[in-house]
Amino acid sequence: MRCPAGHRFEGWFSSSDAFAQQAAAGAIACAVCGDTHIERAPMAPQVLRHAGRGSQEPEPAAPQGEGTGAAPAASGGDLAGAQGKAAMVMSALMQQMRALRAKVEATCDYVGDDFPEEARRIHYGEVEERGIYGEATPEEAEALKDEGVEVSRIPWLPRDN
Ligand SMILES: [Zn+2]
Repeated sequence: MRCPAGHRFEGWFSSSDAFAQQAAAGAIACAVCGDTHIERAPMAPQVLRHAGRGSQEPEPAAPQGEGTGAAPAASGGDLAGAQGKAAMVMSALMQQMRALRAKVEATCDYVGDDFPEEARRIHYGEVEERGIYGEATPEEAEALKDEGVEVSRIPWLPRDN
């Protein structure tokens, strides 16, 4: 939102119509000077910029042109669009990690804290080679790698959320 004096403040409305109605009725006042002649300021995508900060920000700085030509378009719909896209990417990622977990659980033996020990036995051929998974401290994992044992850390998500 923006008042005639150029103050910007945030306001959320279910639709452009809802905004227009409330603005016309003088129901929206500038957070700084109280002026009710409010117009809708174009909203720049600023999800990250505003995280954990107050809502009464000074005018956002223009993107620093560094010849990339990749300045984001600043239209009203981009904010919701960007959030929706981020949520979709996140959800796809979680799905992949869950699938990875399911695959590991289906094909590997769980050995718990014995993981470093068991990984060495397999590496040195003391037991039959098989896939295992379990817990290891970062130090233990590092020591295994130093010995040439292939271990990898995978993101381990709970089955549901
Ligand atoms: Zn104002």
